[in-house]
Amino acid sequence: MADYDLFVIGAGSGGVRAARVSAAYGARVAIAEEYKVGGTCVIRGCVPKKLLIFGAHFAEDLDDAAMFGWDVPTKRFDWQVLRDNVLGEVCRLEEAYTETLTNHDVTIYKERAELTGPNKVRLASGKEVAADKILIATGATPVMPGIEGIEHAISSNEVFHLEQLPKRVVIAGGGYIANEFAGIFDQFGSQVTLVNRTDVILRHYDQQIVDRLMQISIRKGIDFKFHATIEKIEKHDDGTLDVRMTGCDDIETDQLLFATGRKPNTTSLGLDAAGVAVGDKGQIKVDADNRTSVPSIFAVGDVTDRIQLTPVAIREGQAFADTFFGNNPTQVDYSCVPSAVFSHPPLAGVGMTEGEARNKLGQVKTYTSDFRAMKNVLAGRNERSLYKLVVDGTTDRIVGIHMIGPDAPEILQAAAIAIKGKLKKADFDATVALHPTMAEELVLMR
Ligand code: NDP
Repeated sequence: MADYDLFVIGAGSGGVRAARVSAAYGARVAIAEEYKVGGTCVIRGCVPKKLLIFGAHFAEDLDDAAMFGWDVPTKRFDWQVLRDNVLGEVCRLEEAYTETLTNHDVTIYKERAELTGPNKVRLASGKEVAADKILIATGATPVMPGIEGIEHAISSNEVFHLEQLPKRVVIAGGGYIANEFAGIFDQFGSQVTLVNRTDVILRHYDQQIVDRLMQISIRKGIDFKFHATIEKIEKHDDGTLDVRMTGCDDIETDQLLFATGRKPNTTSLGLDAAGVAVGDKGQIKVDADNRTSVPSIFAVGDVTDRIQLTPVAIREGQAFADTFFGNNPTQVDYSCVPSAVFSHPPLAGVGMTEGEARNKLGQVKTYTSDFRAMKNVLAGRNERSLYKLVVDGTTDRIVGIHMIGPDAPEILQAAAIAIKGKLKKADFDATVALHPTMAEELVLMR
């Protein structure tokens, strides 16, 4: 008899959900985690990042406070205070996640695990464990290029632990992490340079919305270097870095952050030993039931490189548990997944961009609202929001909603239901505005 019904490798968002729910269905479950329970999102991703974003917002809020009658005599930011408070919150969450697992009688092995066969796992301690089913939920890891001096650069894993706030920071990449940390460091007072290999940032978002972010970011003082590549990094005795470039002048900086994507975490996982097939990016190949090429081995989350987002990994973990331990076969629906970039200001989108809609549908109508949030008007802040509806011209169905502006992700979460529910532009028009809000723009576009 196997030691467990289910052995999960990796205690991140997908793994924890699958382990907890399977155990609640009565399965005997164990989970192995080599670093910290919680995974990327909780330990070094969404959660600590969002807390830094909250911290960053105070920079402008404190400036704007004057027009609202508040006298804020001096403002001084202390990175160490915020960093330590954020890391403290991460520790608290790690304990909460651990408690959730133990409350469900999930055995936790705080060590690395590797596959040794279709139903076998070997732990770092040497212990061999047998399980009826094995779930791989090892996530993804930042891609670091193999250039000279790369040991002087950091990834998003290290950025939460910096000793000092850098006076100058170079960020490589033009995706989620690059734009979010450009906003964070800029608000903390660092001089930010974003280096990208093309002139397209946030490739999968609506380009009109992305252009607005770029305009606002440039006005805030973020320097963009496009068609630029980092060739080599040299470190001086005083700690400063010389970043040798092609496509633009070399850059002297205090910190260099690489945010050029994340690759599936499959190194030394024993996939060959077990016969698990991987794709061209090293991702574990799975079917719609999260089953790999080996019938007893499954995978969920970033390691499968479907959509690298926490809520998607959680859905996959839940669907796996429901299907195989809850007698309720469930497959994840990957359509209309809303997403957001917590840049400064944030942007968010769901459904088709205008470009995608024009390629896929015959007739497309777009509606935009370009406005200054009321709070920005009184504060004298010349920063405009942009909302956009993409509508199928034949059916009147709204196929995409895209927005940039304060609280855009909060507003978009509710608006995404309209896309999922296949609502029409006429349904938006028929909805009475909630005044005065920014969200009312969604039902006032004509
Ligand atoms: P992204 O995929 O968002 O962006 C990667 C960026 O790096 C792109 O601009 C890409 O350019 C560029 N790039 C890729 N390869 C190279 C290379 N070899 N040399 C130079 N530039 C390169 O990755 P991130 O690292 O920002 O984030 C990783 C993942 O984490 C995201 O895909 C997302 O799923 C998740 N995440 C989600 C967040 C959220 O939901 N708010 C926040 C942070 C992360 P190009 O466009 O030309 O390919």
